[in-house]
Amino acid sequence: MIARRAVLIKLPRDKCDVKYIRRLMALANLAYRGFEIWAQDVPGTIQYQLYSFKNYKSSLVFGIVPKKWFAETWIPLKVLRVYGDGSRKGDRNALVALDFRNSVIKLRQICRSEPGFVVEIPMSSWVVERMREGGDIKFAMIGLKNDEPYLALVAERDVEPYQPSNYRLVIDVNMWNNGITWGLIRDGVIVKWKPERPNLREIDNLYNLSVRLSREYGRLKRLGLNKTGEGKELWREIKRVRKRFFAKLRDYVQKLVHKLMRKALRHKAFVVIDDMIEESRRELIEEKLPKGLKKLYLMYTRRFVRLLITQLKWYGVPYEFRRLPSTVCPMCEHELTQLHGRVMVCENCGFKAPRDKVPIVFATLRLTYHALCLT
Ligand SMILES: [Zn+2]
Repeated sequence: MIARRAVLIKLPRDKCDVKYIRRLMALANLAYRGFEIWAQDVPGTIQYQLYSFKNYKSSLVFGIVPKKWFAETWIPLKVLRVYGDGSRKGDRNALVALDFRNSVIKLRQICRSEPGFVVEIPMSSWVVERMREGGDIKFAMIGLKNDEPYLALVAERDVEPYQPSNYRLVIDVNMWNNGITWGLIRDGVIVKWKPERPNLREIDNLYNLSVRLSREYGRLKRLGLNKTGEGKELWREIKRVRKRFFAKLRDYVQKLVHKLMRKALRHKAFVVIDDMIEESRRELIEEKLPKGLKKLYLMYTRRFVRLLITQLKWYGVPYEFRRLPSTVCPMCEHELTQLHGRVMVCENCGFKAPRDKVPIVFATLRLTYHALCLT
């Protein structure tokens, strides 16, 4: 099974011609749609590469069909790898070269339309780590994100899922504000379980601050004062707050995925995921949260699931999606009643547990037989 991971590396803006990259993106978009247009102003080497990719497009991790007409397609590129001992792998004419001898990534003619124009950026530690794990980097992409030039590298690895032990790691994905609960189960017994939540107060505060500052900026703009020193300073402050806000959420997602991956790998566990994002979304709509914040919670919950799956595949962790209800009794399947403080009780058999724990108990009691069949 081929597993893939990708990374984005920001390119030095002063060495990149954004207009040129945008032009290449438009050509790539046409190529994806099956048009072959030979542009006079674009080096032949790039165009040969672009059209040779047509047959591989479904093998690339970046969307098969471009999202927007003439906008979001990145330019696919082949990668030459030059190893420490001088040996090479990949197309010698590739426009992206990973040079491990000199610890640099070289980009030829794709940042600016000038013969022999090369941009060198330091080798990323991400590349070194993926290679150490047995991955290879055959493809790259270049494109613009928020009008900034980026290089995307795609690592591939041929990996078979391992034979799971008697451990299972159950992950119940709720909406961000209710957190993600994990439980480690050994031979049908819960060893440990924990609901994980980001520091919500901190995130809410940053969000509210950003909204307040934006309103203040809007007021200045209406008065025509947004270009004054005060207005510009306020704009910079808004950007700083937003940056911190997104960094906090991103960081949280990455750390949590990392933590769960380490747990799964340490115990050679079989991973069970309940990703009821749609159901949680309905629950979320009913909650008294600002609309913008709800959207962001949803976005980062999805990002968490995506990142988790990518890494499970990459490290060959066997997993499956299962429905793990939190409102049905895991003992007798009777409907549960929610008490104050998110405590669930069964009026039929007397079962009682915190709401976050119910899916873990359910996985322990109801999925045991299934897991035995698998191992
Ligand atoms: Zn019951």
